[in-house]
Amino acid sequence: MKSGMKPHGVGYKQITLMILKKISKGFTLHKGITIQTRAKTNTGMEQQTTLSVQSNFDSGNIEVVSIGEEGDIHLKIRPDPWCETDQANHMQWFHYRVRGVRGKSLKMSIINAGHASYPTEGWDGYHACASYDLEHWFRIKTTTYDHHTGVLSIQHNPESDSVHYAYFAPYTQERHAAFVHKLQTAHMASGHGVRLRSLGRTLEGRDIDLITVGGDAMPTEVEKHVIWIIGRQHPGETQAEYFIEGLLERLVLKPDAVARKLLSGAIFHVVPNMCPDGSYRGHLRTNAAGVNLNRAWAGPDPSTCPEVYHTLNRMKETGVDFLLDVHGDEGLPHCFVAGLSGIPRWNSRIEGLQSEFCDAFMRACPEFQTTYGYPRDAPGKANLNLCSKQIGQAFDCLSLTLEMPFKDCAELPEPLQEWSPERSKALGAGVLHAILETLPKLRY
Ligand SMILES: [Zn+2]
Repeated sequence: MKSGMKPHGVGYKQITLMILKKISKGFTLHKGITIQTRAKTNTGMEQQTTLSVQSNFDSGNIEVVSIGEEGDIHLKIRPDPWCETDQANHMQWFHYRVRGVRGKSLKMSIINAGHASYPTEGWDGYHACASYDLEHWFRIKTTTYDHHTGVLSIQHNPESDSVHYAYFAPYTQERHAAFVHKLQTAHMASGHGVRLRSLGRTLEGRDIDLITVGGDAMPTEVEKHVIWIIGRQHPGETQAEYFIEGLLERLVLKPDAVARKLLSGAIFHVVPNMCPDGSYRGHLRTNAAGVNLNRAWAGPDPSTCPEVYHTLNRMKETGVDFLLDVHGDEGLPHCFVAGLSGIPRWNSRIEGLQSEFCDAFMRACPEFQTTYGYPRDAPGKANLNLCSKQIGQAFDCLSLTLEMPFKDCAELPEPLQEWSPERSKALGAGVLHAILETLPKLRY
């Protein structure tokens, strides 16, 4: 039991306060008495009315420092393992459940937020996500960050008994498993099959799922373009897997004209979650060994980074004509891509392809833009440990990193949810139009 929690039942003083509170809110005295009677009868009521915080589930991450009776809760984010390439214990992702909250005024303080990977750019203007049903996620607008104390405060008066709070809407293994199995059973109008295979196993024994749509890209089908889409190299960037869910839904489950035309000329290899271990553990940026997957592509070590090792080997077998590596950016409130500038092979053909793709993406999705993003790499200065740079260099193809916000999208704000699973999915469905427009020019 955590410090500050009551060891036995609800105190008489607290129940009296609850009765008075209910009466003042217009509830009948009868309801108040019911609460008092239940509280005296068994310890079950303790679990219903005593505040408790849990994170011992898929993608959970929080440590409880203290829980006050009045709803004053102090918390800490648990850091990722040490990451050698980044020289950091990353942290920013949190996900926890608070029970016994109905009618209470919660003030949750994440007291080590100042030590997060992106303290200023990440927390400024950020609003925590919350959900009662684990489907619809809304924002807590009273979230504030104090630069002096390094504390992130989330104030909320919940409407139900139990609430989940998270850095962004979680994407669980159960959701992943249900979705990929639904895909493999889909009968496609176009007649193209769907294969669900494992690229290999993670350090903790989880499969790295690969979905292949439209063929196997083996020598008999070389006339088709080979498209690779991967997401969640950084496990805390869950919007990436929602993006891929939206893309695959349009491609496989509801194939419209765009999807069917694409599949007549392309094979899709899709890895919805590159880092299932980090996802389950509630990490921000690393796998179980503390490896930042997106800093390992120049020479992945299978003993510490099987996720990249197996994926890269499969890419060498299939070839790559286009790659999209999907991410979320903690600071920037925009959707944008990071391109191939700075790779040794950078040339006018790649530059032209990149701008054609971006123009088509903007036509298809008004939330995507090219004004804001990362600075371009100087000639020859690209970091070839990054996936998109390494693949662009190795395969001489268009290869991009896509970033979505954790906050709202400044171009088209939506105050209730801000950036959300729904909008990530819509962007994933929309990108197919941009790929279709670019497809005929991907090869020389
Ligand atoms: Zn990322």
